[in-house]
Amino acid sequence: MLYGEKTKNFQVKKKKIKELLIGSNNAGKVREIKHLLPRNIKVQSIIDYKFKSPKETGKTFLENSYIKSKYFSKKTNKICLADDSGLEVDKLNKKPGIFSARWGGKKNNFDLAIKRVFRELNKVDKNWRKKTIKARFVCALTIFGPNIKKIHSIGVVEGKISSKKKGKNGFGYDPIFIPKGKKITFGQMKFIKKFKIDHRAKAFKKIKKFL
Ligand code: IMP
Repeated sequence: MLYGEKTKNFQVKKKKIKELLIGSNNAGKVREIKHLLPRNIKVQSIIDYKFKSPKETGKTFLENSYIKSKYFSKKTNKICLADDSGLEVDKLNKKPGIFSARWGGKKNNFDLAIKRVFRELNKVDKNWRKKTIKARFVCALTIFGPNIKKIHSIGVVEGKISSKKKGKNGFGYDPIFIPKGKKITFGQMKFIKKFKIDHRAKAFKKIKKFL
């Protein structure tokens, strides 16, 4: 057990986390995370502190979420939740992966990032549009804080890359990602629907038992 204490009969009694600091400077992400957390938790974000984010030097989504949550927790002495997410394309050896945001350049231009996915696919296989290009979105979460070593969870949504950009909803790679079992991209899907089945929702479902 990572956050709890042993009672007399050696059962683990969970301490409830009452306050949580979200380790992200992205207002949209913070809003989405607030929706996914139990209502009784008081949520703050590092936006209120005007901290810069640390360098994401990890090799995996989990490592990067850990780096962020530990960094902001140490700075504030609060329990902090941080995430790291991205798109893995099998035909590109799981790229862009942890570089998903970075493929959008300094200005986080998602159009540029999508063009790069298409360009890289063209380099490996000119006929990729006629094939099933397996891909997935991954979201890793870490909670770190005083009296908590670390709590991790990972959520994954499997799918494929669309041959064309479709839809104007969402952000990032949403217009080129078709989730498994569906015929439309996340970009064509209403937010309320995507929000229930995506990688972030899955990761939060798993971590909720610690909250
Ligand atoms: P992070 O803020 O470092 O986790 O970067 C995540 C990046 O991965 C974003 O900038 C997007 O490019 C991409 N990404 C993560 N989740 C999603 C999603 O739900 N839809 C579309 N793109 C996503």
